[in-house]
Amino acid sequence: MFFISGKNKMLIKEYSESQQSCKNCKTFNIEIEVFSEYFHLYLIPFFPTGTKTVKIHCGNCQDVIEDQSLREHYEKITKNPFYIYSGPILVVILISLIVNLNLSTQDEKARYAADPKVGDVYMIRNETFNSSFYTFFKIVKINDDTISAYQSNAEYEKFTSNPAPGDYYNKERKLLLLRSDLKTMLNMNKITSINREDE
Ligand SMILES: [Zn+2]
Repeated sequence: MFFISGKNKMLIKEYSESQQSCKNCKTFNIEIEVFSEYFHLYLIPFFPTGTKTVKIHCGNCQDVIEDQSLREHYEKITKNPFYIYSGPILVVILISLIVNLNLSTQDEKARYAADPKVGDVYMIRNETFNSSFYTFFKIVKINDDTISAYQSNAEYEKFTSNPAPGDYYNKERKLLLLRSDLKTMLNMNKITSINREDE
């Protein structure tokens, strides 16, 4: 059962049949269970194999009842539940969450770049001939159209949400930018992230 992938069975529906009686005890209390076989991945059902099993027994004396036509009838009328497709459903949900998260991040970035505030921290992707590296700068002053920022000392090989401890924004590494420069950098996809403290 605990293999990475394989087949499994689940109970998908239970019925009770009061039109027929048990041949053994004559009680009108026949119970029907319909099982569906499915493929699983890490025990998560992905889709049904198409094979259904119907088990019929007497609810009173528990005698197993072999009734071909009853079995076929319940096999036919019982549909697979949606959760037999849990795997693909989860995949779709996960993808849409990632897409949404990405869209809202892009949205936020555009909003912040259009309306810069003192304290905003930008992570910038710098492209060189055959590699790319990241740097941070922090906006320290905004005068009308001109933005002053201090760059941090270190360069980073991959995305980091904040400068490493010990790395700090250096007054000696001052940047002067125009508001339009932020927009240009955003359009050129050079801005990896913008962090705003109070939001
Ligand atoms: Zn019975």
